Amino acid sequence: MRTVTKVLTASALSLALLTFSGCGQKPEPVGGATGDVVAQPFAEVTKINGQIFGTFYYITVPGGYPGGEDTLRSDAQFVFTKVGNAISTFDPSAEIARFNEHHSTGDFPISSYLANVIEEVQRQSRRIGMAMDPTVGPLVNLWGFGPKGQIEHSPTDEQVAETKEYVGLDKFSLRRAGGTAFLVKSDPRVELDLSTIGEGLAADELAALMDRKGIANYMIAIAGAIRSKGANPEGKLWRVGIEDPLSHGQKVFAAVCPQGMAISTAGSYRNFFVDDETNQFYSHVIDPETGRPIAHRTVSVSVVDRAALVTDALDTGLLVWGAQKAVDWGNKNDVAVYAIEIDDKGQAKETHSRAFDIYLKCKVHQNLTQTAPLE
Ligand code: ADP
Ligand code: MG
Repeated sequence: MRTVTKVLTASALSLALLTFSGCGQKPEPVGGATGDVVAQPFAEVTKINGQIFGTFYYITVPGGYPGGEDTLRSDAQFVFTKVGNAISTFDPSAEIARFNEHHSTGDFPISSYLANVIEEVQRQSRRIGMAMDPTVGPLVNLWGFGPKGQIEHSPTDEQVAETKEYVGLDKFSLRRAGGTAFLVKSDPRVELDLSTIGEGLAADELAALMDRKGIANYMIAIAGAIRSKGANPEGKLWRVGIEDPLSHGQKVFAAVCPQGMAISTAGSYRNFFVDDETNQFYSHVIDPETGRPIAHRTVSVSVVDRAALVTDALDTGLLVWGAQKAVDWGNKNDVAVYAIEIDDKGQAKETHSRAFDIYLKCKVHQNLTQTAPLE
């Protein structure tokens, strides 16, 4: 057995991989930044921030939120509670936490809301060959990144192989009967871990709530998952920064204008440990195929798509695949993918799919369609 030193960077709790204009860090100018004015500057702006799901959120509403900061805060809290009640693995009363404790192959009834979320996650998982897999929880725990706490020794090959026996999309099923939805495990040890999509789901929910209220301009950033619409406080397109993975949160690597679409980033460089003996780097992102943390040189993958639940599901799986395969998949499937890897000289280097180009241009683009997220 090898001993491992856990190196959780100071910001293990802060997984904000994306920064954005108006909230601290200034994105560097990108080429062709003309044509990004979409409104007059706003005299009134409502802003809140706080902590949720062990990470940070920032919400900005140019033009002001009806009811002001207090109403915005209570609307955000309503959404966080709804999402947490469904998918938390840390709150023992949450639906997923209770399902994980249900060590049985008998039917487990769930809300239709959670059923819709799981169906969408299954769909996204299949699109990328299950590289993002919601049943990966036991492996996450085995490697010391889950609710069961950190590890002192890396697991043995036997432990990895044994745990893999009950990891896989085919190890549980979702069934609907007479208006009720049920989850069924094929092995009583199966557990679900939807934490990688929690931030995206919450961002979508809050965006949907704001859309229903008729709010034309907003930026909702929940750690690395962002929904934005309309204009920023200066009346320009919102800009989101993809963080330079080598800068410890200090520098923006690329500025992106998502133009009403969702964007999220998965990164392997914030939460990891280094093996004492081998100097091997182990990330909190697990490759479900090997049962081991990814250990390649791709350190972040960002995706732009119609909903943050979708981007948040895809970015994790595409990070598992690594830059080349991720960007090839993006080109083949017309999905906007942006990957950063560290080259032999220790330099950060990007590759992106063709569909990502328009988001790097920061000029108003008319033809983007945004599908409504899950209700
Ligand atoms: P990041 O945005 O830095 O990727 P997230 O919190 O969104 O961080 O996702 C990482 C979490 O997702 C891990 O801590 C683990 O719980 C879970 N996870 C790790 N690997 C996978 C995977 N292959 N598929 C699904 N979930 C995963
Ligand atoms: Mg994610």
